[in-house]
Amino acid sequence: MDNLVEIKGLTIEFPMRAGTLKAVNQADFSIPRGQITALVGESGSGKSTLASAVMRAVTSPGRIAAGTIRFDGEDILALSRKQLQAYKWEKASMVFQAAQNALNPVVRIKDQIIETYRAHRSSASEKQIVDKARDLMDYVRLEPDRVLQAFPYELSGGMKQRVMIAFSLLLDPQLVILDEPTTALDVITQAYIFDILVKIHKEMDITMLLLTHDIGVVAKAADRVGVMYAGNIVEAGSVYDMFKRPKHPYTAKLMKAVPSLYDDLSERKAIPGSPPDLLRMPPGCPFAPRCEHAFDACRKASPSRVVWPGGHEASCHLHPDSQTVSIAEVRTS
Ligand code: SF4
Repeated sequence: MDNLVEIKGLTIEFPMRAGTLKAVNQADFSIPRGQITALVGESGSGKSTLASAVMRAVTSPGRIAAGTIRFDGEDILALSRKQLQAYKWEKASMVFQAAQNALNPVVRIKDQIIETYRAHRSSASEKQIVDKARDLMDYVRLEPDRVLQAFPYELSGGMKQRVMIAFSLLLDPQLVILDEPTTALDVITQAYIFDILVKIHKEMDITMLLLTHDIGVVAKAADRVGVMYAGNIVEAGSVYDMFKRPKHPYTAKLMKAVPSLYDDLSERKAIPGSPPDLLRMPPGCPFAPRCEHAFDACRKASPSRVVWPGGHEASCHLHPDSQTVSIAEVRTS
């Protein structure tokens, strides 16, 4: 598989008074080029922290304690400040949760776009930038004349979110990361924005990483999915494999638990219990206290990752190591 991003052994820690919190624990994860990859999990599972690391934007006191992140083969953890400035926005951009609040309320959208663009390409003329901005506003189905002249407070939440999506495309990145891009919007606007994102992905050939809790959106939009639980990637694979043949009990429960824009709410069933306290992780498998299949080994040792041909992988003692094939074998298949 041709991966644009490859993450290996990534551990992100937050030192706290009560101990060290591992928000991401030895994560291996890849984002295939030209696809939409979704990362799902409950709040606090670590998906936003992992995505922030791809943008080299883990906030203090958090720190990357171990692991590597490669973008198109380049180690982004080793980038200099100057290289990092070129990486962000021009190679990878991110629309953060509630990103609309990132807009300066007292500066017109047009002026914010010009300022961002010139921070990277200082020689661009105003006409070049405005022409580009107009195209992008069209793309996200906003009226360029009205929106570019507007102040953020004159726009609705859905419009501001579409402005932020346009911002993320401004410098033609290869990868766009979207963290819960429709949170706090009404369901009609959510569906509308997801349609726009799929169109952007297809027509602009942009690789996307979508962080979402909406399993229905994953089924509709994504090609590949990773599932996070308590800082661990517990399963990853194609959308088809994950929905038809989930290998990890948490994935199977999650698929049936989370309400979606696109399906029947009466079939939803909550997962009993709650995720573990990341400062007091149980020994063994982190899902063991909530897992109906747990047995002795689950409470003693962390399960190792098992990889099936085709790239479907899961960490669960229900799957013995004898089924494991090497990662190299999978990547070349
Ligand atoms: Fe359940 Fe054990 Fe698998 Fe964890 S390792 S998900 S506790 S069966």
